[in-house]
Amino acid sequence: MQLSLLEWSAPVVAPKAAMPWTEADYDRLTALYAETGGNIRAIAAMMGRTPTAIWTKASYLCLAVEGNDVKLRRCLGDGCGKKFLSPDKGVRICSRCKQNRDLPWGVVY
Ligand SMILES: [Zn+2]
Repeated sequence: MQLSLLEWSAPVVAPKAAMPWTEADYDRLTALYAETGGNIRAIAAMMGRTPTAIWTKASYLCLAVEGNDVKLRRCLGDGCGKKFLSPDKGVRICSRCKQNRDLPWGVVY
């Protein structure tokens, strides 16, 4: 994804900028990312966050996926069940589960 440097200097109203992120926020970010095709500024406006915050969390959630069949899928990780952006139907473990080294599938992908 290409991001214009000019966009970052634009003033943004971010009423929730100081609020901590909740699981519901992560879910909403994931859904909006899928809906908007990764339009960071649009998501920031809809969630009341700064584009920088959205970008940081989108990176954390690994939302910028490319694949043959990108869509929201439910994670099959033990006790997870979160929706995440999966590049194709063979990927059913979300990025956060993959990053958790305590889980046996943490090293599979
Ligand atoms: Zn998961």
